[in-house]
Amino acid sequence: MTAVSIDLALQRCIEPDCGARYGLNEQLYVCPHCGGLLEIENESDVSADAEALRRLWQSRLASPEERDRSGVWRYRELLPFSDDAPIVSLVEGNTPLYDAPRAARYCGLNALKLKHQGCNPTGSFKDTGMTTAVTQARILGARTVVCASTGNTAASLAAYAARAGLKCAILVPRGQVSHAKLAQSLDYGGIVLEIEGNFDDAMRIIRELAEDESIYLVNSINPFRIEGQKTVAAELLQQCAWQVPDHVVVPGGNLGNSAAFGKGFRELFELGVIDRLPRLQVVQADGAAPFAQLFARLEQDSTVEDSTTSLTPIKHPQTLATEIADAKAIIGRDGIGCEPASATTVAGIKRLVNDGVIGPDENVVAVLTGHLLKDADYIIKYHQDSLYTHDRASNRSKEERRITGTFSNAPARVKATRAAILQHLESHDQSHHIEDRSFG
Ligand SMILES: [Zn+2]
Repeated sequence: MTAVSIDLALQRCIEPDCGARYGLNEQLYVCPHCGGLLEIENESDVSADAEALRRLWQSRLASPEERDRSGVWRYRELLPFSDDAPIVSLVEGNTPLYDAPRAARYCGLNALKLKHQGCNPTGSFKDTGMTTAVTQARILGARTVVCASTGNTAASLAAYAARAGLKCAILVPRGQVSHAKLAQSLDYGGIVLEIEGNFDDAMRIIRELAEDESIYLVNSINPFRIEGQKTVAAELLQQCAWQVPDHVVVPGGNLGNSAAFGKGFRELFELGVIDRLPRLQVVQADGAAPFAQLFARLEQDSTVEDSTTSLTPIKHPQTLATEIADAKAIIGRDGIGCEPASATTVAGIKRLVNDGVIGPDENVVAVLTGHLLKDADYIIKYHQDSLYTHDRASNRSKEERRITGTFSNAPARVKATRAAILQHLESHDQSHHIEDRSFG
């Protein structure tokens, strides 16, 4: 059975005024005609039987074949690759969908499920898109793959390039990468090039390098990454026994996740695999919310000029908000844990419940994008009350910028005696009992 007809799949410019179409294997990153972003257009086989597809995907959960064990390639009927594609896989996907009762109470919900994309092979959601992008690099005959990244993309690309036997170059702005992610990139054999300048400088150089056909660019604008990432929608729905949640909440980030989930849900709906669409909520931190601000502008004035319908970049993005730090800690208290940026979803849900957008009885799934150990420094600082916002725009003192964690949990020094330890454990129990009631 094929749900996507490979002969009919192509790359299409997303700009409504352009819409130019290109072959799947043309090595492009943006539309040569207008510079717009490209997406893969999959002509669905309308004769595909939705029930048969669900059964097929279910049967693959018990299959020993490598591509069936991958949580991306298991859903290959949704992907623009032929059956004999030279798949590069680390058995990505297969991430858990957890019940998170403490995080649910914190948000004011009866129940909350967390889809933990940090449980991928390199500890972030990037792997689900990297498996398809590096497979495409192999199809195109590239010898080198490159990206500009401050972290998770670099770690993921380095791993998949190693798997494919491709040379991997990573450009990072100097000093802007967490230790964990740098360590990963080095260990997977990536060639890490620290450049003077910021992320935009790194991106500019990367685009110049990609003019060489033996070099394949794997940044977030690569449409083949979205294809892999969209299968997370299928895996999530399968875990929900194809019962569509009321809300699926994703962090904004560079909007790759919202694009991928949106495409995934829409295609499953068009194939008849699901009978309705969930409401996709995209959460951005207050200090770095160009997408949210764009929507606010459009809502205020439906007659806005073209020039105001594009995203306005934020000069000094601030994402170290107290609410996100607390949300991150409460996810940890469910025994789950995640990277700080992941916790914007839970912080966002708390506000959406408070604002009445999400009802307390509704069925909500939040997506966590990265593993807890991706940024251990942040976590240690939070729990020791030594985490500060980098609020460059204001004149606030360092003390005023300190984030005081509601759930901070600093290590304690105790005497090496049984009595001292028991006494400490008892006082700890009491303080936690109070804290439980404070958000229960
Ligand atoms: Zn175009």
